[in-house]
Amino acid sequence: MSVLVVGSIALDTVKTPFEEHADLLGGSASYCSVAASFFSPVNLVGVVGEDFPPQHIDYFKSRGMDLAGLQIAPGKTFRWSGEYMLDMNVRETRSIALNVFEQFNPVLPKDYTATPFVLLGNIGPNLQNHVLDQMQKPRFVIADTMDLWINIALEELKRLLARVDLLILNESEARLLTQQASLVKAGKLIQAMGPRFVAIKKGEHGCLLFGENGDFFSCAAYPLEEVNDPTGAGDTFAGGLAGYLASSVTGEVTFAHLRKAVVHGSVLASFNVEKFSLERMRTLAQTDVQQRYESFRLFSHFEVIE
Ligand code: AMP
Repeated sequence: MSVLVVGSIALDTVKTPFEEHADLLGGSASYCSVAASFFSPVNLVGVVGEDFPPQHIDYFKSRGMDLAGLQIAPGKTFRWSGEYMLDMNVRETRSIALNVFEQFNPVLPKDYTATPFVLLGNIGPNLQNHVLDQMQKPRFVIADTMDLWINIALEELKRLLARVDLLILNESEARLLTQQASLVKAGKLIQAMGPRFVAIKKGEHGCLLFGENGDFFSCAAYPLEEVNDPTGAGDTFAGGLAGYLASSVTGEVTFAHLRKAVVHGSVLASFNVEKFSLERMRTLAQTDVQQRYESFRLFSHFEVIE
């Protein structure tokens, strides 16, 4: 089954303590859709400007994506620039230029409206709601968000939360949204705002998954010796998770499905941070994903005490 992905498509400038690269392919929808495409067909919804390099569009095509929902608008592509500290969990946004994103009105091609799985990548919750308004009856809706929207669009975000099955956010955002120090309390409070499931990402420390009736899963992150660019890790996690669900679930999505999906999302994210932008995704093979899933399973498993 297919996943509809909406979000930002960007040209990023990324600085780490060791390297700086400009005009990289980035944006939440780019990472989400490429990651999802490892498991399932993708319908992409987004906007780029006339300056967007055609080779990036060719790359999306090479991943088998449907691009009928990709608008090329007069003006410049959305740009974001960020800098990582030595602790790569810490990032500062250096600049942002909305450009064509400012006027973005995501209009879904008619045959997208029946897509069973929806991944609302990180964009304003007004746009995320607008996409959902056009969907017929999606089977499972996933939304990602960020601190910016919690700070400036809380009411719109709350309206969205009542309409999604799974909310994905990082630990600082979960604390900001709930004003709770405990992530376990925060997860439950967010569930009470609407989503049946909540995934709280903890960067290099993995993620927490909350389900119904107290279901809970703590998933580690795959231990990597070298992280070169954490940009898009969260989006790749969400895309891998969504794509895996769409490829493997035919009936109702259960907690057991989601446990496997967060592990697949984590595996994809662990590859993505090995190189800048989406470079690692370009050479990633399905067998690499399977092998890492298996070693991740062995690293994380522990025995029952007799
Ligand atoms: P992540 O590292 O998963 O938080 O995602 C980073 C990506 O999000 C970058 O490629 C940016 O282009 C994109 N991004 C940053 N800020 C925003 C924003 N306000 N709205 C949409 N996308 C953004």
